[in-house]
Amino acid sequence: MLRGAALRVTRPRLAVLTAVHAHPHADTESIIGAVRDALPEVSHQAVYDSLHTLTGAGLVRSIKPAGSVARYETRTGDNHHHVVCRSCGRIADVDCAVGHAPCLTASDHHGFVIDEAEVLYWGTCPECSASNS
Ligand SMILES: [Zn+2]
Ligand SMILES: [Zn+2]
Repeated sequence: MLRGAALRVTRPRLAVLTAVHAHPHADTESIIGAVRDALPEVSHQAVYDSLHTLTGAGLVRSIKPAGSVARYETRTGDNHHHVVCRSCGRIADVDCAVGHAPCLTASDHHGFVIDEAEVLYWGTCPECSASNS
């Protein structure tokens, strides 16, 4: 993946990519933890830098629900959506509601060329629903 994006393959980048892939929607702290399992000497800064580079190259997508820290995932380019639990912050993937990226067809595009739609559904996850009732 790194070579495909014309990025130099470094150990921190590889470890960050692997960690994000293994833990979809993880925040930076969890990614640092997972990366350190593989590369104990890696610095916070190296993880931040790698995340930044990978996101810029389109290998990692960052999502930032209101009131939450940024979360990262390697499932990019398919315009999928997310559902967020208001109570515990858990995030799950939601495929586009109907067919192929219908949300890219805005009802009024205001003359913009639109290439991405970001939809966040908010609600309560099954665990939180169960513990509330
Ligand atoms: Zn929850
Ligand atoms: Zn996702």
